[in-house]
Amino acid sequence: MAIIADLHIHSKYSRACSAKLDLQNLEKFARIKGISLLGTGDFTHPKWIKELKTKLVEDGSGILRTKRGFPFLLSTELSFIYSQGGKGRRIHNIVLAKNFEMVDQITDILGKNGRLDYDGRPIFGISCIEFVELMKEIDESIEIIPAHIWTPWFSLFGSNSGFDAVQECFGDQTKHIHALETGLSSNPAMNWRLSQLDKFQIVSFSDSHSFWPWRLGREATVFDTKLQYDTIVHALRTGEGLAETMEVSPLFGKYHLTGHRNCNVCMEPKEALQHKNICPKCKKPLTVGVEQRVEALADRELGYRPKHAKPFKTLIPLTELLAQLFNAGIATKRVLAEYFKIVEAFGNELRVLLEASSQELRKVTQEPIVDVILQNREGKVPIKGGYDGVYGVPLVIPIEDKTAIERKTSKAERGQPTLLDF
Ligand SMILES: [Zn+2]
Ligand SMILES: [Zn+2]
Repeated sequence: MAIIADLHIHSKYSRACSAKLDLQNLEKFARIKGISLLGTGDFTHPKWIKELKTKLVEDGSGILRTKRGFPFLLSTELSFIYSQGGKGRRIHNIVLAKNFEMVDQITDILGKNGRLDYDGRPIFGISCIEFVELMKEIDESIEIIPAHIWTPWFSLFGSNSGFDAVQECFGDQTKHIHALETGLSSNPAMNWRLSQLDKFQIVSFSDSHSFWPWRLGREATVFDTKLQYDTIVHALRTGEGLAETMEVSPLFGKYHLTGHRNCNVCMEPKEALQHKNICPKCKKPLTVGVEQRVEALADRELGYRPKHAKPFKTLIPLTELLAQLFNAGIATKRVLAEYFKIVEAFGNELRVLLEASSQELRKVTQEPIVDVILQNREGKVPIKGGYDGVYGVPLVIPIEDKTAIERKTSKAERGQPTLLDF
């Protein structure tokens, strides 16, 4: 059985997270989503680790289970802010650990380098090189994965904070880095454009700050291996047992295009370069998006596929599609009622998105929704690109508008419907 894993999430102890972001809700919504393995997130936080130790049972192979048997793997995300090569660097790394004992050792050492209790994702002033050295002194099995490697503010390749090469960031410790997280705003195909990334596994997780199904599991990595810490880490290190990733369209990510949120300015890389990355409205530097950053570092054209590249799927969460179809807020009664009705009929959301046949879907929901689910399965839902912290928007015609347009067309009324003008 394939393991659909979301190993980068956060708990209620991370900044800007709901107080209800606890194990119970994580398990509940992971099951609803169809995720079969979750990271715990935030394992350096004193209160969260205490909760994990009380409520989860170690099975001896590095997997922790809830009372009902749902599996978790110890994970966290840490922030590193430091200077290197005369430039300020801000990098986020995901860390995986095999058991509570190892987490205690990690926490011990990190506690000497900074405080841990103010945020589930604490900040340290040491370099990524020093950090990997510290971890490897504790245990070889600890895995470090650079997080959302392209986002502008806090990442390995970030336009405002990062490096141009993995080797520049991790130096001689690069040998301990095996996998890289794409982040929402890039997909594997974009990463394949850099020959320097060929030796790394490309993985995807949600970085969710909530348990809601439009966040949790919106990106995930599928493993075809035994459910154990060692086999999962082996897959991350070698690709053996790493089946594929599930991605949102990179346009959907908050940092795909270049722009300024407050100035309502959004540009493709070419246009941004014509403006020398300066905002035409406020004259300040634009937030350079992931597409432009990939373009700058790529040594291959889009479409190149490295030999050992893993396949990936492109899927927008069902709730996001329903919100557009109903022209309603994502957390509204109408969207959630339809979501749960459809999901209940098939067991979980990923089954709806990936497997449910059109005939089966038609029995449960209306035609325009079925059409969009099938379109989504082929990765063909058009998206208005995200930029400077603004999410992309699926360009799905609302059901009411569609009916109105059809009525109009059938009356052979003339004129371009403005509703189609996104
Ligand atoms: Zn992060
Ligand atoms: Zn501006």
